[in-house]
Amino acid sequence: MNREGVLYVISAPSGAGKTTLCKEIIDKFPNLRHSVSYTTRTPRSGEVHGRDYFFVGKEEFKRMVDAGEFAEWAEVHGNFYGTSLATLKECRSQGIDLILDIDCQGARQLKSRFEGGVYIFVLPPSIAELRRRLDTRSLDTAEVIERRINNAAGEIKESRWYDYIIVNDDFEVAAEQLKSVLIAEQCRTSRLLASLAATFDI
Ligand code: 5GP
Repeated sequence: MNREGVLYVISAPSGAGKTTLCKEIIDKFPNLRHSVSYTTRTPRSGEVHGRDYFFVGKEEFKRMVDAGEFAEWAEVHGNFYGTSLATLKECRSQGIDLILDIDCQGARQLKSRFEGGVYIFVLPPSIAELRRRLDTRSLDTAEVIERRINNAAGEIKESRWYDYIIVNDDFEVAAEQLKSVLIAEQCRTSRLLASLAATFDI
């Protein structure tokens, strides 16, 4: 069936579990790809250039901004992050669905720029639980964790304009909910009409 690729935009405060959720569903949908962002953040141990992120210097990032190479970009927790416009356009035109793990500022930019995106917000069960998760994953320094917790309240306020909210208390349940959103969106009438018109008089 010929249809435009769907943009799934997923945001959450750091530590809510959105990256794990995205990893969990990516293999379940053969037509779904994870969008690899560009960032000026230094790689964490185990992160691979081109798989987790494209790690670039500030100069290169700025050059890309000036050249209009980003579909959206934002400064998050003191680092820059952006989504390649070329990749996004290519996937959409080839009918490949993309999942973008990006912050609320970037999500807002995409919402105003592209039609038909699906906006999903992942919430932790509470701020206390968010702090506990950030502390136990020990990926970041105490200072970075503090900054991320302070930013969380502002980010959570943004959830009100998203299409779906998933509360990640029990991971299995949250993963099922995310899968259900994707399945439902595949059946959305507006996405199917053009391709079905070849077979049916609708
Ligand atoms: P982290 O440094 O923990 O990988 O990501 C920090 C934040 O940056 C997360 O909220 C993540 O969703 C966001 N982020 C990652 N890539 C992008 C991007 O391309 N654009 C925007 N706007 N945010 C991003």
